[in-house]
Amino acid sequence: MTRQTFLPTPVTARPGEPYVRVRDLERDLAERVDGEVRFDAGTRGAYSTDGSNYRQVPLGVVVPRTVEAAVRAVAVCREHRAPVTSRGGGTSLAGQTCNVAVIIDWSKYCHRLVSVDAEAGTCVVEPGIVLDVLNRRLAETGLEFGPRPSTHSQCTLGGMIGNNSCGSTAQAYGKTAGNVSRLEILTYDGTRMWVGPTDERQYARFLEGGGRRAEIYRALHDIVDAHAEEIRRRFPDIPRRVSGYNLDELLPGGAFNLARALVGSEGTLAVVLRAELCLVPVPKAESLVILGYHDIAAAADAVPRIAAHRPLQLEGVDDKLIGFERRLGMHPEALGRLPEGGGWLMVSFPGDSQRKADKRARALTDALEGTEHAPHVAFFDKEKVEKGLWEVRESGLGATARVPGMRETWEGWEDSAVPPERLGGYLRDLLRLLDEFDYGDAALYGHFGQGCVHTRIPFDLVTADGIAAFGAFLDRAADLVVAYGGSLSGEHGDGQSRGQLLPKMFGPEVMEAFEQVKAVFDPGNRMNPGKIVAPNGVGENLRLGADWTPADPPVTFGYPGDEGSFQRAVMRCCGLAGDFGFTAGHLRVSMACAEHELLPALRAASPETLVLADGFSCRTQIEQSGVGRQALHLAEILAAAQRGASPGAYPERQILRRPGRPQTLDGRR
Ligand SMILES: Cc1cc2nc3c(=O)[nH]c(=O)nc-3n(C[C@H](O)[C@H](O)[C@H](O)COP(=O)(O)OP(=O)(O)OC[C@H]3O[C@@H](n4cnc5c(N)ncnc54)[C@H](O)[C@@H]3O)c2cc1C
Repeated sequence: MTRQTFLPTPVTARPGEPYVRVRDLERDLAERVDGEVRFDAGTRGAYSTDGSNYRQVPLGVVVPRTVEAAVRAVAVCREHRAPVTSRGGGTSLAGQTCNVAVIIDWSKYCHRLVSVDAEAGTCVVEPGIVLDVLNRRLAETGLEFGPRPSTHSQCTLGGMIGNNSCGSTAQAYGKTAGNVSRLEILTYDGTRMWVGPTDERQYARFLEGGGRRAEIYRALHDIVDAHAEEIRRRFPDIPRRVSGYNLDELLPGGAFNLARALVGSEGTLAVVLRAELCLVPVPKAESLVILGYHDIAAAADAVPRIAAHRPLQLEGVDDKLIGFERRLGMHPEALGRLPEGGGWLMVSFPGDSQRKADKRARALTDALEGTEHAPHVAFFDKEKVEKGLWEVRESGLGATARVPGMRETWEGWEDSAVPPERLGGYLRDLLRLLDEFDYGDAALYGHFGQGCVHTRIPFDLVTADGIAAFGAFLDRAADLVVAYGGSLSGEHGDGQSRGQLLPKMFGPEVMEAFEQVKAVFDPGNRMNPGKIVAPNGVGENLRLGADWTPADPPVTFGYPGDEGSFQRAVMRCCGLAGDFGFTAGHLRVSMACAEHELLPALRAASPETLVLADGFSCRTQIEQSGVGRQALHLAEILAAAQRGASPGAYPERQILRRPGRPQTLDGRR
């Protein structure tokens, strides 16, 4: 007898303003959660953005001291029907880390390396651990976590799992999804369980056991069964399909891997409490070859031939990016080492010894000689030199964001991906499209070996016409990438930037499957609402927007790096938390930088001076400096003014409601 299936009603509604009694919520969280409960204006302001174009002011922030405390925080939110958004380093570029919700910040306390099984090549971590910290702690095992985003010094494993992060080494190791073994998750209704690959016997056992686990497993099974054909047809078989939920991990005939299906769900389905990760051996040696081509599209044409040599990394950079770095005075020594060309591929090979790594690199350059893809070649096998050259590529985003005398550039179409063998054609068409919209000064670079292209585009996000053009460009670019059999996001996730465009890529049936999956985990749409499913529009919640009216106050500093503009300097800050600046050893560097201008000015300031800083790093830097001042967020000053406060000397002492002083890993408080 065939079993009848009941598919859940898809979550399609846009989230309304949450009806939450915020003061009662704050009180209950403070009473019942072991952690910092911060509902003050400054904290809410600081957490209102991530690395994206978007801004949503949260209801409040909880910084739990333990995973158990975070579980309690979710329970309290559930009682108040408050939405929940998880946050690690906050480095996301698509708006998936800001929301009108209670933000749970995992990065400050929940960063334990719980266990390591070197023999099995696995470890268990809490979600707030930063990738570089994890890899340093694993150093003595000779193992590391394979995927490495450029933000490796700041991004947390929870955030990498949330976004299905990649980076340059994904060329060899794949996306985060492929490197996760099991996850301990918590759903909004309080169901807590470890999930991973599930064979038929285990699946039958889960169903027999009944309860919420059985309900979730059965519903997912039925949804994917009902839509299997369309999922197979619509999911592009490319290395960098990051958009959408990973329903391909649940297809009949596969491993029914719920952990991997949840990777990339951007906190919209469940909270990750702990993760069991698969580790890879740290390469003992590496060689780097840089190949120069006539232009970036010609470099892309050579990718399939080079990828066949199975490099560790295969990255592309164009002449615009290199030109911007020269103008900014960045990496002069490394730039001087580039071979001739107008578009470059950086290819690295691992090896058990330097000789073996060099041999693989030489085999590649020999194989390219005399072909239509013969490049200008530079070869490197000294670690320090290679590191300098990789910085040229890793600082791509920073170098293209703000070039003196040029328009500011923004994310929004910053990580599309196509089949690597079609990359050259895609780049030529993308360049034409950029020109058509007068965005032609955008640089192109990225993880070319996997067909993933980064760019920052000079969108005008401060006039109605500019914002309309931004939307029109995204529409056309999405059509283009879909025509190439690609993915809207090849690395950074959908969030708000791409949520609205997903139907172009997946079509109505797969979209319905996503909405049904959302309904299985979170029928009330309380987990990071407005992202991926039932998404906010690409033109909503912009940090700037047509009504953006920046002030032009009298200022003390000259802002020479920003053409004397206070406003341009302010816009440098995108509110990234990083790992709170608590990395051991970073304090000394931070203080040395601050001594150039900031700290002398703070010491000279009268006690009545308002010290204003919106971003985490600046606020933390000032608090840690020992000058006896704390910075206020603009929102705190406005809130105090609204209350009619007249603060007098040391205004922060009257205004601040933030608990305690920050902690550093260097042991100072
Ligand atoms: C300059 C720059 C360069 C970048 N380069 C790369 C790159 O090379 N490769 C790459 O892949 N990305 C890159 N990114 C994007 C970003 O850094 C990565 O996606 C990173 O892994 C995000 O980590 P995070 O800790 O900052 O996550 P966050 O931004 O804090 O969170 C990311 C998502 O995960 C969710 N989340 C966080 N913790 C949990 C949890 N415990 N449970 C459930 N959900 C959770 C959040 O809600 C959010 O949706 C770059 C970003 C910047 C600004």
